[in-house]
Amino acid sequence: MKFGGSSVADAARLRHVADIINTQADRKPVLVLSAMGDTTDHLLEAGDAALKQGKVEITQIENLHQATVKNLKLVREQLTNEPLADGIKPSQKDFNGLLDELKRLLSGIALIRELTPRTKDYLVSFGERLSVRLAAAFFRSVNMNARAFDAFDTGFISNSDYTKAELLKESWDLIPQKILPLIKENIIPVITGFIAKDAKGCITTLGRGGSDLSATMIAASCKAEEIQVWKDVDGILTADPRIVKNARPVQNVTYDEAAELAYFGAQVLHPRAMLPCMKTGTPVLVKNSYNTDAPGTRIENAAVSAKKSPPVRAITSRRNVTLVDIVSTRMLGQYGFLAEVFSVFARNSISVDMVATSEVSVSLTLDAAFDLGEVKKELSKIAQVEVKGGKAIVSIIGNVKRSSEILARAFRICQFIGVPVQMISQGASKVNISFIVNDTEADEVVKALHMDFFDAQ
Ligand code: ASP
Ligand code: MG
Repeated sequence: MKFGGSSVADAARLRHVADIINTQADRKPVLVLSAMGDTTDHLLEAGDAALKQGKVEITQIENLHQATVKNLKLVREQLTNEPLADGIKPSQKDFNGLLDELKRLLSGIALIRELTPRTKDYLVSFGERLSVRLAAAFFRSVNMNARAFDAFDTGFISNSDYTKAELLKESWDLIPQKILPLIKENIIPVITGFIAKDAKGCITTLGRGGSDLSATMIAASCKAEEIQVWKDVDGILTADPRIVKNARPVQNVTYDEAAELAYFGAQVLHPRAMLPCMKTGTPVLVKNSYNTDAPGTRIENAAVSAKKSPPVRAITSRRNVTLVDIVSTRMLGQYGFLAEVFSVFARNSISVDMVATSEVSVSLTLDAAFDLGEVKKELSKIAQVEVKGGKAIVSIIGNVKRSSEILARAFRICQFIGVPVQMISQGASKVNISFIVNDTEADEVVKALHMDFFDAQ
């Protein structure tokens, strides 16, 4: 069970989390927690203030944690880990020791005026390390057999790519070796998300939002029944609720569909976090800790998921897209033309999103933020180039095996509302049919498609 920052933001939220865990205590949960609320951001700001102004300022972080301790009626002794059975060590440093260490670290940064990626990881690790100690102390105070652990004491080892470290393969064996004995002792481990240690023994982080990965890694490596990711949304929605008022949670999606949705900014797991579960087929349940009655979204493998679902799972859009049309008669029967085109984009560090090609032309899309001056100059040497701004990608995520049905319905709708489709891409992904319309028409298309696929039945 993973609880994100907003699910553990204060004393009231922690009480609520204890209730959620208690209803499932017989399932032998392992807990993974993020830093409380916006603590990670506040730690980064504190690091910045130390670096640039020589200031040691952690009032906000201290206040939040101390207020929560007080509100939960915890005293100093409770914030220390109780010793465990043979050979299993809970985290060594206690809550107050960590707060002191954090201040000393910031004084160090303020003095030497240097903040390397390695030190940054050490700095932000305090968020998760404080939150698990506080939460475990509180859970014990309400008679749960909880113990706090730093992830690196439970088998999380990574490379030294600070701020975006990758877990090493060894973690797959080490994590269950450390965690399963705890479960056997009926302990509820409360483990830090987001952090690990490298071979040199330095603390690393897995990138922002990395706690999801910590949790899926534990679930997959320990062969858990399922992983529950507790967030502050009802799960994955059928559309962006700002565009479609009656968007609703999707009950089932496949790992692939969830990964496509993440690209469109849906509030789900980072595709990286899904990898361990995809490997083992462990289902992921995304639940709302603010609305526990909502069924949430279940992410699982295709075979299980397909049985239960309609052809379309969700409709998304991405605005502010530029379409580039490249036409060259030289392309006919030639080789190397596409390579030449893409190398121009590569040289200019421009990432291309959608592509469609015919024998003599290529259309591709990219984010409108890119400056295309240089690219246009270079491409014009080998082809006719037309750059069209003000476009949007509309994507239908669903079962592409039923693509004829989906396409027929989608294009009938576009025709009906008088919106011409300007480019289509289907086939590369097994779960996504995308097309381009004018940016100004995107919301209308999404609304109309949503109505047809979800409301008209
Ligand atoms: N606390 C970290 C962050 O805010 C990790 C996480 O919440 O997943 O990015
Ligand atoms: Mg967070």
